[in-house]
Parts: sequence; structure tokens; C-alpha cells
Amino acid sequence: MSGVARTHRLCATRISCAFRTISEEAALVIAGLVPMQELARGKTAREREIQERWDSATSGRWTHDLIPVLSPWLERRHGQVDFYLTQILSGHGCFRSYLKKYGHDTSDGCPSCGSGIEENARHVLFECVRFVEDRTALEIATGVSTSPSTLVPTMLRGQTEWDATTKFAASVMRKLRIAERERRGLDTSLKTHMGILIFGKDDYIIYIDVAEVADLLS
Ligand SMILES: [Zn+2]
Repeated sequence: MSGVARTHRLCATRISCAFRTISEEAALVIAGLVPMQELARGKTAREREIQERWDSATSGRWTHDLIPVLSPWLERRHGQVDFYLTQILSGHGCFRSYLKKYGHDTSDGCPSCGSGIEENARHVLFECVRFVEDRTALEIATGVSTSPSTLVPTMLRGQTEWDATTKFAASVMRKLRIAERERRGLDTSLKTHMGILIFGKDDYIIYIDVAEVADLLS
């Protein structure tokens, strides 16, 4: 990777407050750093090239499932991506499948849905029984049945839907984070990591948002 590409990726990763394990393609898409000036020219060859590259990339496929078509996402006029949204859009977060893959958990199984059910982003967001209430609140706020194909198009409809999805992401990811810390016998108030980024092995970043801590203490 060239120096420029590396810096570009680092910026994308920082902007989306993400985990450094996210693929370059997905990080750039989530952070909206695909060259806008090219997209603004309309259906150019360059735009098609960017879309084709996204379609054929081998990594970032969960993000591609949620954001298959780039232009509505990149050209939106509302909606900031935060720490929690990045986790659900990338699949890199406190999901046991992710934690196990990077050596931070011994099992990838969902603790509530029985053996053989992997706790990944798809399961947590759209299937898991633990988050029915969060899912229902999101569906009431948006009027849309939540699925991988409707999540992002619904967010793109307007700020209200975006905010409802952000709230959903934060609620679910905080609960997963607490469950992870409980499994590891750690303080679930998360106070000890407030505002700190820790770069651990395998590029695993521990990042606790100040708002998350305030919410947990209230
Ligand atoms: Zn489950």
C-alpha cells in the first residue's frame, strides 16, 4: 500500500471511529471517502469503475450486503457515522464471531439462541431474540420492517430514520459490549477506558465513547 493510500485509509478509519481490522474498501465506503468529485459528474465511466470495484472486492462483503449501491450512500445530505454505526455496518465490533476470529473469545456462539447459531452482525441485528425490543422500536420509528436490504435505504430516507438507526445501533452494541466484559469478568461500567484508544494485538482497538459511559452511569 502506498503512503498516500495508507494515509487515506487511516483517515477513513479514524473518521468512522472504527476497528483497524476493517477492510480498506469498507472503511472508505462507510466514511464516505470514495472520490466525490468523480461521482458528482453523473454516470461516468469512473463512477461505474468505483461501483464495479466495490462489487468485486473480496473483503468488506458484509458492508456490501448493507450498502450494495454506493451513490445514494455517498451523496446523502444527512447522517453522520459514529462508533456504533460503524460496528454494525462493518461487522467489526463486539460480535462473538469477530472477537473469536481475532482471538478475543473462545466461542462464536450466540448465548441466547442455542448451539450452532453464530453471533455475527447479521444475527444480532436481524434475528437474535435478545434484541427484539430494540428492533421493534426501530421499526415503529421508521415504519419499515428491518432487514439487511432495508436498513440502509431506510436510513437514507431522512434524518429521523437515520437517528432511529443510530439509536438502535448504540443500544445493541452497548449491550454486546457489556456482555463481552461480563464474560471476561471485567468492570461493566466501562469507566476505565473512557476516551481512550488502545491498539492491541491484531489491530484490535478498544475504544469507549464518552457518551456511552455517560449513558451507562445515568
Ligand atoms: Zn441470538
